[in-house]
Amino acid sequence: MQTQTFERMESNVRTYSRSFPVVFTKAKNARLTDEDGREYIDFLAGAGTLNYGHNNAHLKEAMIDYLASDGVVHGLDMWTAAKRDYFDTLNELIFKPRGLDYKVHLPGPTGTNAVEAAIRLARVAKGRHNIVTFTNGFHGVTMGALATTGNRKFREATGGIPTQGASFLPYDGYMGEHADTLDYFEKLLADKSGGLDIPAAVIVETVQGEGGINVASLEWLKRLEGICRDHDLLLIVDDIQAGCGRTGKFFSFEHAGIKPDMVTNSKSLSGFGLPFAHVLMRPELDQWKPGQYNGTFRGFNLAMITATAALKKYWSNDTFERDVQRKGHIVEERFKTLAKRLSDNGMPASERGRGLMRGIDVVDGDIADAITGKAFEHGLIIETSGQAGEVVKCLCPLTISDEDLIEGLDILEKCVDAVISGK
Ligand SMILES: *Cc1c(COP(=O)(O)O)cnc(C)c1O
Repeated sequence: MQTQTFERMESNVRTYSRSFPVVFTKAKNARLTDEDGREYIDFLAGAGTLNYGHNNAHLKEAMIDYLASDGVVHGLDMWTAAKRDYFDTLNELIFKPRGLDYKVHLPGPTGTNAVEAAIRLARVAKGRHNIVTFTNGFHGVTMGALATTGNRKFREATGGIPTQGASFLPYDGYMGEHADTLDYFEKLLADKSGGLDIPAAVIVETVQGEGGINVASLEWLKRLEGICRDHDLLLIVDDIQAGCGRTGKFFSFEHAGIKPDMVTNSKSLSGFGLPFAHVLMRPELDQWKPGQYNGTFRGFNLAMITATAALKKYWSNDTFERDVQRKGHIVEERFKTLAKRLSDNGMPASERGRGLMRGIDVVDGDIADAITGKAFEHGLIIETSGQAGEVVKCLCPLTISDEDLIEGLDILEKCVDAVISGK
């Protein structure tokens, strides 16, 4: 495989190609093929962007039909039939059955664009600058979003310009099992000299993806919503990674029965891996003036075509979400076994997650790397997350076949065993 081209031309900033240094040519559902014809099972799936798999036939057909009919691909934010169809479908299949009433802001097409837009609108709507965010949170890397992202590696890459306007509080579980970290938040809000600038909003992931599959309990999320209501703070759920069915429900916050004031979506939103993002907001929060926030690529019509097809195909009834939950249990059981096996052999480990967003925390980033490195040698693409890369995380397509899921888990088991026996 010829890789000199990349080494010569591509910036050092590249990341995933370092873990998986082959040249990929084709992809179908949960499988990737490289230039030598070798197949890999994909438990990374675009870091949660390919919930419906690579080249999903149903979505591809909708896209090809649209292109073949000369449908509008780019239209700035002008009205198109594709956009109307998407909004109507989102309203009928997602909002109405869940008792939600949101307006949709289409910012630029990436997750960080949606987070920037959401926190900026929160500031405009509330007339306060501060945003509360949580330890190990990941919300993107443009300046506003970066201020709410915990990871020092990203924060250090601003060239010394300080990020501003966010306060970090401990996420659920951060101070150990027995501390309710929201006690601290409530105390700070009540204490006139606690040092916390009263925030406009709180931004939270219900399960932290990049931060290491840290799972907020449903009680904690409910209490957080209550605190926001009591203190007139907006609750923003960043559902960019945990949404679109990843945790077994369309929105990850449904499990907790909460209703955020704003929601950010991206990653699997188009369903096909096309760039697409939006902010959902309670209608009265829509305080934007026309054109006050813009961007050339707002509401990519092709992405709305595949997004609409994905909603119609997978979210018309609960068959799909039940299947995600079923597969989630399979992964959970296997991960528990692997964590126990590691622990029994002197490598403390634990399993955690919700739905098909799951991880094994092996505490030590080197052990996690050894496992994922071996996995790649054996044809499984799986990545780590967490502050030290200590969590091996499964983000396989939700549409993965049971055969591929089991085969991937078998490979992982073999690699865990190899790491245990020091091979
Ligand atoms: C990936 C991610 C983002 C950023 O999305 P980009 O498209 O990479 O800018 C923001 N929040 C969460 C929770 C994410 O997982």
